[in-house]
Amino acid sequence: MELGIAGRTAIICAGSKGLGRGCATALAREGVAIFIAARGADALEATAKSIRDDTGARVTTVQADVTTEAGRAALLAACPAPDILVTNAGGPPPGEFIQFSLDDWRRAVEANMITPIALIAATIQGMMGRGFGRVVNITSYTVKMPIGSLELSNGARAGLTGAVASLARRAAPHNVTINNMLPGPFDTDRVRSNWTRAAEVSGRSMEDVAKDSVRSIPARRLGTTEEFGATCAFLCSAHAGFITGQNILLDGGAYPGLM
Ligand code: NAP
Repeated sequence: MELGIAGRTAIICAGSKGLGRGCATALAREGVAIFIAARGADALEATAKSIRDDTGARVTTVQADVTTEAGRAALLAACPAPDILVTNAGGPPPGEFIQFSLDDWRRAVEANMITPIALIAATIQGMMGRGFGRVVNITSYTVKMPIGSLELSNGARAGLTGAVASLARRAAPHNVTINNMLPGPFDTDRVRSNWTRAAEVSGRSMEDVAKDSVRSIPARRLGTTEEFGATCAFLCSAHAGFITGQNILLDGGAYPGLM
């Protein structure tokens, strides 16, 4: 399918690895000029080169911590008027409510709620004025199915979901959509570090934790970054203007926990 977005520009936050990289690659394949941000220069430049080589697309890197005002300013200086905005950042650490300090909560809210809100606030009016815009927030299936060990994530991501719900409707007449993608377990570094932590806490081997985790997914496998990216590209496509304000689960059938 021709997605109708060749020549558009996109910001992809946290795009050097994992889900962000999957989205960046899929958009580049559609001829979108992409601006990818991450903190570490090595992975960022290696990913940019790989996407350029694979797709021939224009790829600009911005080495930035998107959870800081300075990082967001650098990203928006490089691409002040994106047609497409994919918000993303590292997830908060696992742990339990009573162990978290208020600063832990502030960091989680800053990274996974305020950061996307700030980027949307800076770009959405331009999108509405130009009559085209696609915002995709990478959140988590914890929005629909809170997970005991991920309370920082549960809270911050649910907050973002609520914060953009009305705006999505107000932007819709201008052909600007806002949707949230809710990944279940995907095959990235993040899922492996969660398994490592679960193994440490439970005293079980990482292989056992991984096996149990995959067994709990009806599809009996992790998601791939390619399929995540393809869904993102479709949501950003010319055909997806009637899909807005949605929370799109990609979890291999895990929600609502029926087997
Ligand atoms: P990942 O494979 O660990 O990749 C994280 C990416 O984000 C890297 O490119 C990293 O690069 C970048 N990054 C992290 N913090 C950043 C910051 N402050 N500023 C700019 N870039 C930053 O993680 P992932 O699995 O793709 O996860 C992406 C998001 O989805 C996370 O919030 C995660 O919690 C959430 N999620 C993932 C899953 C899953 O199964 N994978 C499930 C539910 C939710 P640098 O470190 O160099 O900055």
